[in-house]
Amino acid sequence: MRLILLGAPGTGKGTQATLLKEKYGVPHISTGEMFREAIEAETEVGMRAKSYIDSGQLVPDEVVVDMVRDCLGQPNCAATGFIFDGFPRTVEQAERFNAILEERNESIDAVILLSVDEEQIVKRLSGRRLCQESGRIYNVELAPDEWEHSEDKKKGCTLVQRNDDKPEVVKARMRTYHNQTSPLVEYYRKHGMLVTVDGEGSVRQVFDRIVAAL
Ligand code: AMP
Repeated sequence: MRLILLGAPGTGKGTQATLLKEKYGVPHISTGEMFREAIEAETEVGMRAKSYIDSGQLVPDEVVVDMVRDCLGQPNCAATGFIFDGFPRTVEQAERFNAILEERNESIDAVILLSVDEEQIVKRLSGRRLCQESGRIYNVELAPDEWEHSEDKKKGCTLVQRNDDKPEVVKARMRTYHNQTSPLVEYYRKHGMLVTVDGEGSVRQVFDRIVAAL
């Protein structure tokens, strides 16, 4: 299974990718996560990416594409398929990704577009918190009880907010999505690969819709 999850920030791509990974047994590749790890490890890629990420802009195409190419070139990475979450994010990245896949004699099965109302997106992002210890995602605005009654809270774990989930950066990320990423919707529609899925409702409901659509 070779999938791309497309959608504005906060539409649930990461959450759904985690479930799809379990169902189809293929790796979940998040370029955003790769950058966050690179920043944490203070690598050269991390240092190049940081200022773009902190201001809600896209990391330059060549940095992202090189990172993806390296990742796919590693033994066993994506041997059985993949779920890309947050890549590609520009038409240029999509075209360069197609060329990489052609070299590998592979093709994408579907591009899933998660569609969520913009007001809902802002609520999802401003309330999103990450448990520092388990990596689990909670939402203190939309589902405060889930955190209040969680094992993570009982264990005394700390919730942190991603730097780029702060309101001023969220606005910039939404602008970036509209200007640079949304043209991909038309691009993949023209190529007959786009599957649009309603991303509102519970995590399970959205997951069932994706599986039904595939
Ligand atoms: P995400 O976790 O997917 O929301 O990504 C967080 C940030 O990483 C984005 O706002 C971008 O600055 C950067 N990023 C992640 N993936 C890409 C990509 N494919 N192209 C350019 N920048 C990216």
